[in-house]
Amino acid sequence: MTKPVVSIVKHNDTYNSIKEALELCDGLQGFSKQDKILIKPNLVSWDFELPFPPYGVLTTSAVIFALVQILHEAGFNDLTIGEASLGSFGSTTERIFQVLGYEKLREKYGVNLIDFNKDEFEDVDVGGFNFSIARTALEVDKIINIPVLKTHNQCKVSLGIKNLKGCLHRKSKKFCHARDENLEHMFPRIAEVLPMELTIIDGIFALEKGPGHSGKAFRKDILAASRDILACDVVGAALLGYDAGEVEHIKYFAARNGGSIELPELETRGEAIADHADFLDYTWKWTEDNTMPAGFQKRGIKGLALRKYDDSLCTACAAAFNPVLLLFMSAFKGEPFPGVEFVSGKRQDASPGFEKTVLFGKCAYHRNKGNPNINKPIFIKGCPPDLKEFQKLLKEEGIHCDYEEYVKYRHYIFDRYLSKEGFDMELYVR
Ligand code: SF4
Repeated sequence: MTKPVVSIVKHNDTYNSIKEALELCDGLQGFSKQDKILIKPNLVSWDFELPFPPYGVLTTSAVIFALVQILHEAGFNDLTIGEASLGSFGSTTERIFQVLGYEKLREKYGVNLIDFNKDEFEDVDVGGFNFSIARTALEVDKIINIPVLKTHNQCKVSLGIKNLKGCLHRKSKKFCHARDENLEHMFPRIAEVLPMELTIIDGIFALEKGPGHSGKAFRKDILAASRDILACDVVGAALLGYDAGEVEHIKYFAARNGGSIELPELETRGEAIADHADFLDYTWKWTEDNTMPAGFQKRGIKGLALRKYDDSLCTACAAAFNPVLLLFMSAFKGEPFPGVEFVSGKRQDASPGFEKTVLFGKCAYHRNKGNPNINKPIFIKGCPPDLKEFQKLLKEEGIHCDYEEYVKYRHYIFDRYLSKEGFDMELYVR
């Protein structure tokens, strides 16, 4: 049996590196000039209110622009770029296209830019239930998937299979984060019903403790490409220091679709994995009893219980979690909190013995309304919940969060890349 081929190429000049990656894996072999081609980057979010370092979070525009040029020169002219960003903090997909300069691709090469959040959707049976999938993604002839080389605090890694979640309607994305299902047994099914043809992992940067901007990016300068999405993810995981066997969604996809997750069962061309694999941790440390982040304990924070969120928490809620941690930290002035528990997602139950219970978002509320353990509920409404509301309601309970501290933190995580070699905004903003 022929082994799936994955090319691994050092990134130097983006255009030539992408070309080399495609040539080594015969990436365009199955394409015909008439094909409608969808390019699916990862543009999950931007922040138009506070400083936002995109390194390792978003697909670089350098890779997208180089790929479009290569496709155009090879005679592929029916190109679409599609994505559905989270929409929080003003980050609609269209605004992100704009800030990255994608309009130039429309002007120069006639590329269609589609915000999947505004697309029509079709319900597709993915084995026992339906996903609502953007019609554009279903109707093109071929998809070129361009994820980022990053870790993910719920799924360990976020690569090709995970990146396709962006083709779903919001309600299906939320449905993936189910109360009684494993997230990693949900989204891999998308790849089974889409016309996946080629995956290129953009590893110009790699991200530790991803998937968002609170993680730490490293300049990695590596690209991996394959016509086999599973093989590409197996290699991507290895480059991040993970055996695919410990990544549930990769294992699950392989089991459902008959592929192998063993490195010897695939052929790599170009660079050797061993020369570029570095372990990047996927999550922050929590205390052993899971009552708070280890960093909180180090600071001497007491009187607060804040469990790590599980995979029933959707991406939009998870994106608000980091600000919540910073806000709690800002409220700590050396005195213990007055017995506060913070509850999130669809699975966490409020525990007994707390003065006040913060129910963060609609799901935590529905699960816990009527829970006899709760003395004083503080319900932060919304789906996802609103941070201003969080701050206001906690203030009413005598807990004074300072949003300015969060703003300072955001400047810090942006500024730490400013003088670092290789962290060049021009790789994103064209
Ligand atoms: S409240 Fe949060 S976890 Fe619940 S559906 Fe909304 S975004 Fe998802």
